[in-house]
Amino acid sequence: MKYPSVRNYINGQFVEASGARKLQVISPLDGSLLSEVPMSDAADLQKAVKSAKTAFPAWSRMPIKERVQVFYRYKSLLEKHQDELARLVSEENGKTMGEAIAEIEKCVELTEFACSLPQLVTGEVLEVSKGVECRTEHVPLGVVASIVPFNFPSMVPNWTIPNAIALGNCMIIKPSEKVPLSVGRLAQLLQEAGLPAGVFNVVHGDSEIVEAICDHPGIEAVSFVVSTRIAKMVYQRATHHYKRCLALGGAKNHLLVLPDAIPAMTAQNVAASMSGCAGQRCMAASAMVAVGQVDHIIEKICDEAKKIVPGKNLGAVINRDSKERIERYISEAEQQGAKVLVDGRHAVVNGKEHGTYVGPTVIDFVKPDMAIAKEEVFGPVISIIRSNTVDEALAIENGNPYGNAASVFTQNGGMARYIIERANAGMIGVNVGVPVPREPFSFGGWNESKFGVGDITGKSSIEFWTKLKKSTIKWNPESGVNWMS
Ligand code: NAD
Repeated sequence: MKYPSVRNYINGQFVEASGARKLQVISPLDGSLLSEVPMSDAADLQKAVKSAKTAFPAWSRMPIKERVQVFYRYKSLLEKHQDELARLVSEENGKTMGEAIAEIEKCVELTEFACSLPQLVTGEVLEVSKGVECRTEHVPLGVVASIVPFNFPSMVPNWTIPNAIALGNCMIIKPSEKVPLSVGRLAQLLQEAGLPAGVFNVVHGDSEIVEAICDHPGIEAVSFVVSTRIAKMVYQRATHHYKRCLALGGAKNHLLVLPDAIPAMTAQNVAASMSGCAGQRCMAASAMVAVGQVDHIIEKICDEAKKIVPGKNLGAVINRDSKERIERYISEAEQQGAKVLVDGRHAVVNGKEHGTYVGPTVIDFVKPDMAIAKEEVFGPVISIIRSNTVDEALAIENGNPYGNAASVFTQNGGMARYIIERANAGMIGVNVGVPVPREPFSFGGWNESKFGVGDITGKSSIEFWTKLKKSTIKWNPESGVNWMS
């Protein structure tokens, strides 16, 4: 085992979980055993809630300008340890070092945004009648929870940690049991940055802990990132217990490629979007709707795909189950008449035979009713669906129940605008394959890609992590009494 057993982090200390069950943490890169992670139980969660509750009064009363000083230092530590953090991400998740470094750079950007929160959370004040003022202020919720998935071991935790904590909350995070190592290192860096004990706690485990978080009366809000089926269950369970909940689900992102698209740029973007992070991004292009005659672009996409080599510039998928599921989708589509132009099945990397790799895959003549066109594949695979008109392409895109992202490739601004207005997704790209909005803009899909109000990052996250206090104030007796005050 390369690293010691993973431990919970409660009240500023790494501690053993009381649950006896443990799972192995296997590196998708080569199948090696990295560590083992405990499956905590309700007693462990109770300790974390107690520690966060105890820390909350002092932390929430500290002025926000002081609280964000921790995050200025945390940002510097992320930068200082960039390579080490990236290596951990790559080892436990399977992505390439380049992708892992980009992930840590994104963590820095997220933290920078949190440092700007004092400028963004100012309240409002107005003299509403003579000598009487009304004012509003954003106040923290209390103890909040963040439950995160395997595909971004560091970035998705950092979607929530800096904002929620800078805004005055105390947090319990439940990492994915598939990638539990990165969050432990983030806990050490937060401690080194000066975050007081108890403000940030880590409880490892599986669905048992997720359910305990939803049910715990001491937790005010839950943010959750997972597949749609589980996001729905958790959203229902958390809101059933009157908690605020934002549950981000899966995705099926469509790219619409029009005949006037710039071929080389479009091909590079499509190939990078479908294969980046081995296709395990909720913003990955999964289906491409080819509008009219775009064979010359499809040819270039295949050329680009062939340059993407597992183990070199393409990472591994998370585990063997995933690899088998992805390859099954490809084989089923082929049996149903789709044409595999670039085939990534059975990829093996020399010297890493136990790694779980799928090569880049381009499949043409996919029909909208095939499973590969409808379901989230979560692998480096693009399904090409042919359509005759833009409206037909939009109907295909809007026919899927998800709504994370959609992109169009064209040089016609009017047509791009037409598609932006009609595409039923939360994040739209024009000549951009992965249309992730950068800070201060917020990240969030629609429809079955997100349950709950608002977005998880950017300015929108302020509404999720705080509640509004409204005060009506009169100091001077000469202000008098009128019908309103
Ligand atoms: P995962 O298996 O790591 O699970 C994610 C989290 O859910 C973990 O913390 C896990 O413990 C918990 N969980 C799993 N099963 C559960 C259950 N039955 N009940 C309660 N909790 C449970 O990762 P995953 O779900 O395979 O993650 C990938 C999914 O996340 C994809 O569908 C992806 O699209 C989605 N995702 C969405 C976004 C977005 O912004 N919408 C971002 C990233 C990932």
